Amino acid sequence: MAIFDNKVDMEKRKMSDEEFYVGKAKVCLVQGDITDMDTDAIVNAANPTLMGGGGVDGAIHRRGGSEILEECRRIRATDWPDGLPTGKAVVTSGGNLKARYVIHTVGPVWRGGGQGEPELLAEAYRNSLRLAVSKGMKTIAFPSISTGAYGYPVEKASRIALSIVKEFLEKEDKLDEVVFVLFTKHDLEIYKEATKEII
Ligand code: ADP
Repeated sequence: MAIFDNKVDMEKRKMSDEEFYVGKAKVCLVQGDITDMDTDAIVNAANPTLMGGGGVDGAIHRRGGSEILEECRRIRATDWPDGLPTGKAVVTSGGNLKARYVIHTVGPVWRGGGQGEPELLAEAYRNSLRLAVSKGMKTIAFPSISTGAYGYPVEKASRIALSIVKEFLEKEDKLDEVVFVLFTKHDLEIYKEATKEII
């Protein structure tokens, strides 16, 4: 691929719409179920209770088993008795999942965009990435946080997700791979479009 010889563009060696590099870290977009991922961590789009719910949260707890819920209960009892605030992240084991850890974060509920939603969504991604690095993880998979039940428009959310990951990888070179696991073909296409602007 000729683009690899282009020194000017070495920081952003774009390989395809679904796979590209920021520094030495690979960023991938895939369509699928995040509970199939064998990354060090998968990220859960949780709610503040950390007690499970619908969407990706429900899928993770169903497949990961009761160990994850037990750890979430302990985190609530010790660190966050009133619930995990929006934008924060905590980690549990992966239970029965292939992923070794689950990072639980809470994205913002979309209320029209004027209630700090973009910064809160950015914080959810940033804090998840920081937590992964602080635990020595190398690979992490994200769902499209907030764009399901929480109603964040995926066109807007995808741009924030990709911008924050890019910014983080440019500053820190401790991760090897970040995967966005999009549940639908429609979401994958929107993320692919967003990479054309962001990456
Ligand atoms: P939120 O409450 O943060 O909006 P949801 O779980 O309702 O979280 O939705 C977030 C995104 O996760 C949506 O795009 C939804 O289609 C997607 N999703 C649902 N189940 C899965 C899964 N098993 N793997 C990956 N993504 C999923």
